[in-house]
Amino acid sequence: MSRNSENGWRSKELPYDQVIEKYPEIPPIVALKIDVSRRGIHYTQAALDRVDPDKHHVEPYNYMIGHGKNAAPIGLFLRDGSVICQGDTPDYSKAYRDPYTLDVVDGRLVLTDEEIGKVYEEVTFWDRPDFYDKKTSNGTPMCLVASARPQRITIAPQTKCHFWDTPGEGCKYCALFSAHRSKDDEGEIRDEKWFQDVEETTREALKEKGRYCSFHMTAGSTLSGAEIFDDEVDLYIKTLHAAEKAFKTEKFPVKLVASAFSKKQLQRMYDETAITTYTTDLEVLNPELFKWICPGKSRLVGYEEWKHRLYDAVEIFGRGNVDCGIVGGVETAQPNGFADEDEALAAVLAEAEEMGRHGVSFADCVWNALPGSMFVNQKTPSLEYYVKLALGLAEVRRKNGLKIYTDDYRRCGNHPNTDLARID
Ligand code: SF4
Repeated sequence: MSRNSENGWRSKELPYDQVIEKYPEIPPIVALKIDVSRRGIHYTQAALDRVDPDKHHVEPYNYMIGHGKNAAPIGLFLRDGSVICQGDTPDYSKAYRDPYTLDVVDGRLVLTDEEIGKVYEEVTFWDRPDFYDKKTSNGTPMCLVASARPQRITIAPQTKCHFWDTPGEGCKYCALFSAHRSKDDEGEIRDEKWFQDVEETTREALKEKGRYCSFHMTAGSTLSGAEIFDDEVDLYIKTLHAAEKAFKTEKFPVKLVASAFSKKQLQRMYDETAITTYTTDLEVLNPELFKWICPGKSRLVGYEEWKHRLYDAVEIFGRGNVDCGIVGGVETAQPNGFADEDEALAAVLAEAEEMGRHGVSFADCVWNALPGSMFVNQKTPSLEYYVKLALGLAEVRRKNGLKIYTDDYRRCGNHPNTDLARID
């Protein structure tokens, strides 16, 4: 028995097979994807031996999560073409549950549960983007300028989040950009050379026929400027202007995941760039828990103001073109979160319904207590909870007549609730 199974977690919650039986409205493959995101994946050596760095998408360093020393895949394809945006996390010693295992069985690459000896799904690695092997005219490897999923290009113009500048004020579940948390680290210098690299990399990426259907941009929060986030807005505008030179159209599907900008800043983004949708993450749909879990966001912007800025964004971008990112499940973190999953779900969906009426859609990420985060020792909710949350959020969106364009299963693929848009 593995160390993680010794606490008896398997007997305390419904397993995958029973969850899909109890909730026939959730496609089994979406439920599996949720469970893999929740429990994580451990790659066996046989699976790692299948990785061909010339053919498969591997990254020497996962810039989003910041841990993992070996070049390894950052995602998998499921049989229906949907994706799991998660790589190998080698250390599960602090996790509450066993991870799924990526293994080779009968010559096939498969997701298994080693403990119970069951094979679930055949998977494949993502293809290596063509531009990864190229360099810009400045000699910069393009794989350091942009990242990619199977269907979108991602540029992160800044990998430092300045909420961490005040000790303890970063979000407690967050493992993003953990290599750049020291106060003295200013993050990357983005000079004219870098913007030229962005233009050339975007142009090169677009040569891969039929691959990319959206452009994604995100960064850590930058608090500086005459008004909070002004410098972040400037950086996004300059980066988008650089990328726009590679496109032939005035607008193209741009998904921006950014801080909660003021109405003036949002209007600037809308008027001056090709941006089509905007996402800003309230993270946890409860004012008290927001204060505890996201102390920097709470002190500098506040829950109600963050929400208001989402509503302002709807006025500018239109209903359904504004998403609120949430870390689904983090509302049960202890000691301050909901101890009862039913109460947690009712509270979250009531708040989601109010925001949905204002035209805001949701992008639900599955909370996984990741190494590098302050919540690494926490117990995340049951699979049943995550499934009910995904179904509930999908229903809020449908009821309020909202679309989920750049965050849907085709263009993003990281959110169980938006994966369900395919069966609307
Ligand atoms: S805003 Fe919060 S979740 Fe986003 S990068 Fe900063 S600390 Fe992490």
